[in-house]
Amino acid sequence: MPALDTGKVLVTGANGFIGAWTCKTLLERGFSVRGTVRNESKATHLRKTFASFGDKFEIAVVEDMLEEGAFDSAVQGVDAIVHGASPFDLAVDDPAELIDPAVKGTTTVLTSALKHAPTLRRFIVTSSTGAMNTPSAEMVTVSEADWNEGAIAEINEKGAEASPLGKYCLSKTLAERTAWDFYNKHKGEVGWDMVSLNPPYVFGPVLHEVDKPEKLNTSMVWWYGAVVGGSIDNESLANVGVAWVDVRDMAEAYTLALTTPEASGERFIISAGPFKLQDFVSIAHRLHPQLHAGNTEYNPAKAVHYTNYVTDKQRKLLPIKYRTIEELTGDTLENFQARGWF
Ligand code: NDP
Repeated sequence: MPALDTGKVLVTGANGFIGAWTCKTLLERGFSVRGTVRNESKATHLRKTFASFGDKFEIAVVEDMLEEGAFDSAVQGVDAIVHGASPFDLAVDDPAELIDPAVKGTTTVLTSALKHAPTLRRFIVTSSTGAMNTPSAEMVTVSEADWNEGAIAEINEKGAEASPLGKYCLSKTLAERTAWDFYNKHKGEVGWDMVSLNPPYVFGPVLHEVDKPEKLNTSMVWWYGAVVGGSIDNESLANVGVAWVDVRDMAEAYTLALTTPEASGERFIISAGPFKLQDFVSIAHRLHPQLHAGNTEYNPAKAVHYTNYVTDKQRKLLPIKYRTIEELTGDTLENFQARGWF
């Protein structure tokens, strides 16, 4: 069970919403971090943000993660890999636009790890609850035993006409499956193991480089639209929502997944609980009355949450003290206010 307490971690997609918080948390816990970005200009903000960590933070530019051998040099000398680089985009037509980078990117980094990372001890895959189910208005209980067969069926049936969320969920399902298949095929040859973390919607303050709200990542652009932008109708505010986790707790989950031997070979749902968008709107309006009130008829006690994510394994093996919806909303709005976004 090769977990680690110290060493160098390669974080792919370091300039993303989750990636930047992951780098920060790992650095604060004493790990060295090598973050990958697609070009040098995407590194500037990260270098500035993590300047106080000196040479414990470094950048590896990986221009095209779909090219064979793309990570050959980036993986050298690392003790762990947190693979998160993958598109989360709900505005694509052809499902292949999501599936190809998700699956090929995963294979490329794993192949480089297999060939060029003799010191590697743990590989963490950033998957999603979308690899377990596509949320719908159907009562379901979902655990780590589940795979999103529905997304596979939906794309087979509808192709480019499938729902945007269905396409994204399929990309995460296929990418995570690819990772486990690769690992199971090669585990006899390597000195490392694998863990996957499967969060639902990840929300929270922003640490990566974003100059305006429209440029936020997919989950946060949605949150901003609901809470600050007022772009979502009252009916949807009260009825739309699945489950959430604070990005800072997600970053903590990676650290726990690295340092917990018993996490070896496991998938973990990382979820703080269910939400409807109005839950955030109500708190935001209370904290900042200039923000809209949303659906004032909403009664959280009567909200119907269709998907119940079972988090028993996570709570036992990776005990995260989840932030509350109040903390997330308050801290995120403070972050947005400091940027002049409302
Ligand atoms: P971001 O869009 O903020 O970050 C995505 C990262 O992946 C960026 O660094 C991006 O680089 C990189 N990336 C995307 N496509 C490619 C590509 N084709 N080649 C190389 N790099 C690429 O998203 P998040 O931080 O939200 O997501 C990070 C991971 O977490 C993803 O795997 C996502 O599926 C997963 N996830 C996210 C959730 C959420 O609610 N945010 C929920 C569940 C899982 P660049 O900036 O250059 O495009």
